[in-house]
Amino acid sequence: MINPPYPVLDDLLTTMGVTGRHLASIEASEGAAGNISVCVRWPLEFEHRFPVVTEMELPQAVPELEGATVIVSGTGCRLREINDDPTSNLVCVEITKGGRIGKVHKSENGRNENVTSEFNSHLAVHYDQICSTGTNYHAIIHAQPIHLTFLSHISRYQNEQYLNSHLLRWQPEAIINFPEGIGFIPFHVPSSPELMSGNVAELRKHRLVIWSKHGVMARSDSSVKKAGDLVEYAETAAKYEYLNLGIGEIGEGISTEDIHSICQTFSIKQNIF
Ligand SMILES: [Zn+2]
Repeated sequence: MINPPYPVLDDLLTTMGVTGRHLASIEASEGAAGNISVCVRWPLEFEHRFPVVTEMELPQAVPELEGATVIVSGTGCRLREINDDPTSNLVCVEITKGGRIGKVHKSENGRNENVTSEFNSHLAVHYDQICSTGTNYHAIIHAQPIHLTFLSHISRYQNEQYLNSHLLRWQPEAIINFPEGIGFIPFHVPSSPELMSGNVAELRKHRLVIWSKHGVMARSDSSVKKAGDLVEYAETAAKYEYLNLGIGEIGEGISTEDIHSICQTFSIKQNIF
């Protein structure tokens, strides 16, 4: 939830750009991989930045989001380029007509012909989260951090209990940032309805979900940078785990007793350890 004064369009574009560039710097968005969106429920002024207007049928009806706007990366856009040229890489989808039609605001240079191919998941998760929490702001990132994604190729990490008890043991911050643990979805074809419904279900329970053999999706209702931080925290945990595997698993990790002390000190409720 964001309190007034609400960020204007340029502020939102800037934070998306900075986050996109950072995701590239931690090797979580090679080429045109990854996508980013924020859904805001206060009015925005589009014309000066996105003067071209078209319409699209939304992948699902979202009646409660009528009047909201989803700012989202375009298909084929590079997350690292949003910061230098936000209007060429992002489009604004204003939700109209009972939540069935998106009024699409684009820039004049036309590079961003379409929204990201994962738009169905972005919209479905925004819708589910906003309806259940009532937030006026919601950010989503899909990224492809190497170590997390690599671990998802190993069968024992495809079990949520095993995954979380092994990843969240390397740094005190891990359990603080993921008290509900990290979610996991089996492999589904990109942009498929199965991936979309898996995201909705897992992101109800978790702040970040791993898409097996593909990447992650993270959400935040306070800032897009925070969603980016979650990707970075989870990827750092996976890097520690990867290092430990490479050295013959001699690392101890933080003991269960010490993790319980951390949770007590910071009033963290968790049931992983
Ligand atoms: Zn992807």
